[in-house]
Amino acid sequence: MFESLSDRLGGVFDRLRGRGALTEADVRAAMREVRVALLEADVALPVARDFVEKATEQAIGQNVLRSVTPGQQVVKIVHDALIAMLGADESDLLLDVAPPAVVMMVGLQGSGKTTTTAKIAKRLSGRERKKVLMASLDVNRPNAQEQLATLGTQVEVATLPIIAGQQPVEIARRAMQAAKLQGFDVLMLDTAGRLHVDQALMDEMKAVADIARPQEILLVVDALTGQDAVNVAQNFSDQVPLTGVVLTRMDGDARGGAALSMRAVTGKPIKFAGTGEKLDALEAFHPERVAGRILG
Ligand code: GDP
Repeated sequence: MFESLSDRLGGVFDRLRGRGALTEADVRAAMREVRVALLEADVALPVARDFVEKATEQAIGQNVLRSVTPGQQVVKIVHDALIAMLGADESDLLLDVAPPAVVMMVGLQGSGKTTTTAKIAKRLSGRERKKVLMASLDVNRPNAQEQLATLGTQVEVATLPIIAGQQPVEIARRAMQAAKLQGFDVLMLDTAGRLHVDQALMDEMKAVADIARPQEILLVVDALTGQDAVNVAQNFSDQVPLTGVVLTRMDGDARGGAALSMRAVTGKPIKFAGTGEKLDALEAFHPERVAGRILG
């Protein structure tokens, strides 16, 4: 569907080859193709611009100009720079505290937050044999709390009993108490989403974070939202101390550019990728795979 970056650059350098030695301007021409490739892969514009600037400096410093296959060389530089930026480090959840460790999930409505909450709970309770409690703080969307309870039954993870009329902060407090009294290792808090970022949502999240003091605050972002993802990340990241990102819908035809944007804007690791609607469709994040996908 898309022309790969190698093909694109091959074209650029083929055109230039007949003219003898490549110049810095030629490298810059190649980097314009890199920028187009990144944008087509849904990397946010400011992130693509910044990335290309850095990669250009590297390419110029690295004698690409004299290389026999400058196209391949540029692809390699770009590929390596992408992986470095996507970061392979610390993708595990850091829950090594006196129980209960608290994981707070935040994100826009429809991003896959509730599903991801259940997926992570399933992973922790199954593979890691932790005793997990989930609680939904979403009192805005009708049936959000019931949705989490249903998912809890499916993944065999306990959910906090629902008390009609309770507000998010009260629910968080009750969840903390229950988790402590009943000896849960991990408490997962699924916060309310909104259609757009708004101040009421942010204030609510901050109040909950103050009470629950989470070890992990994970921003859930739909990989298909591409260019928008960066604004979402910026807003959340400005207001709550995120510890990581989960990218959902990586099973779709997203080119993965949102991953680069997320990492660049939040500075936090991408901890998981959601790869389907099923509750075991959650994978550790693999920077090499995503870099390959971005470059096509
Ligand atoms: P929330 O509003 O953010 O809590 O979103 P939900 O968890 O209710 O998810 C919205 C829809 O996206 C549901 O139909 C989920 O099954 C679906 N979904 C969530 N994660 C993924 C994913 O990684 N891949 C796919 N294909 N669908 C997903």
